[in-house]
Amino acid sequence: MSAPVVIIGTGLAGYNVAKEFRKHDTQTPLLLITADDGRSYSKPMLSTGFGKNKDADGLSMAEVGAMAEQLNAEIRTHTRISGIDPGHRQLWLGEEAVAYRDLVLAWGAEVIRVPVEGDAQDAIFSINDLEDYARFRAAAAGNKRVLLLGAGLIGCEFANDLTLGGYSVELVAPCEQVMPGLLHPAAAAAVQAGLEGIGARFHLGPVLSRLQRTDDGLLGHLSDGSQVACDLVLSAVGLRPRIELAAAAGLAVNRGVVVDRQLQTSHANIYALGDCAEVDGLNLLYVMPLMACARALGQTLAGKPAAVSYGPMPVTVKTPVCPLVVSPPARGAVGEWTVTGSGGDIKALYRDAEEQLLGYALTGTAVQEKLALNRELPPLLA
Ligand SMILES: Cc1cc2nc3c(=O)[nH]c(=O)nc-3n(C[C@H](O)[C@H](O)[C@H](O)COP(=O)(O)OP(=O)(O)OC[C@H]3O[C@@H](n4cnc5c(N)ncnc54)[C@H](O)[C@@H]3O)c2cc1C
Repeated sequence: MSAPVVIIGTGLAGYNVAKEFRKHDTQTPLLLITADDGRSYSKPMLSTGFGKNKDADGLSMAEVGAMAEQLNAEIRTHTRISGIDPGHRQLWLGEEAVAYRDLVLAWGAEVIRVPVEGDAQDAIFSINDLEDYARFRAAAAGNKRVLLLGAGLIGCEFANDLTLGGYSVELVAPCEQVMPGLLHPAAAAAVQAGLEGIGARFHLGPVLSRLQRTDDGLLGHLSDGSQVACDLVLSAVGLRPRIELAAAAGLAVNRGVVVDRQLQTSHANIYALGDCAEVDGLNLLYVMPLMACARALGQTLAGKPAAVSYGPMPVTVKTPVCPLVVSPPARGAVGEWTVTGSGGDIKALYRDAEEQLLGYALTGTAVQEKLALNRELPPLLA
């Protein structure tokens, strides 16, 4: 039998490129290898599960067997690849060698862990897949107080969701505003005020330096000398694209695994997409870009080479207490912000000297303008 197309990862990137490939080629052997249990789920739903009272099973959309059948594929679960040998077109699962015709890296990004002293390390959780979510839910059951680390997009979404789920949330982050780098300060203030309005408390500036067990749960010591009592900690300080195995195999890496517009790495027959990939200089950890990549790569793998292009990629942040849509200006863009609105309804527009719209942040009622503004935005990859 000829060597299969092998996809590493069964997240949104892995499963969607498999689906797209199967639209063009129903017969070529297809093998998916995943470190997790291979259930199909939508990762963005992980930060809406408490408000909707859904456990991990409730968020799962299909078991691995159903996915294998739907994709006419073999799927190996709880299996971690340990190396790639591009010269021989094979990869390693420990001692076992697996040959591939084409290899697709869709192995995502890993959570960044911050060093915290103290005797309660095991009470610090992070959520980057369905199994993490199940572990956190089990630990949170029967408890009430969550200390959240990180005020980025994911941290703010969890602050909203856990509060809706009945938890008391205190958020600690070493920044002056929520979602720095993504949001204009006026929009950030609107989101923070919205979250405070439903009871979340913010400690912006310090970090959690020590976490200790007490008779009554946990005590977090912050670097500004203050203390926060809690029952468990959820860390959402950021993600780092997985690049080590690619670098060890001699593939070009930068912030992510470097690929061109056809999603090809620096080595023929090896491709990458999703959170692990840096596509023509852009490493975007969102769903819309990976769907565009999956469509293009599905065709390429089927022998019809296709290049990916990105239109504008606005992100809807799931903070229902303060609706937010953001399209951050590209790194290096030169322009100025104008801000209108007040309170929870902020419209912040970023335009260059020619009045071309380069980015925006909309909160509250201003989100209604997103469709009109999207038409004005330039594509991210023309
Ligand atoms: C809580 C949360 C909320 C989000 N909300 C949004 C949102 O609202 N909108 C949006 O656009 N984006 C959102 N995102 C980002 C979006 O979900 C991700 O960009 C996307 O899901 C990444 O998919 P992926 O397939 O690239 O990676 P992953 O889903 O991380 O999949 C990686 C796969 O690779 C496997 N793997 C890793 N290493 C190995 C190995 N060595 N061997 C074998 N298998 C391996 C893993 O087991 C997994 O199956 C959110 C992210 C999080 C964490």
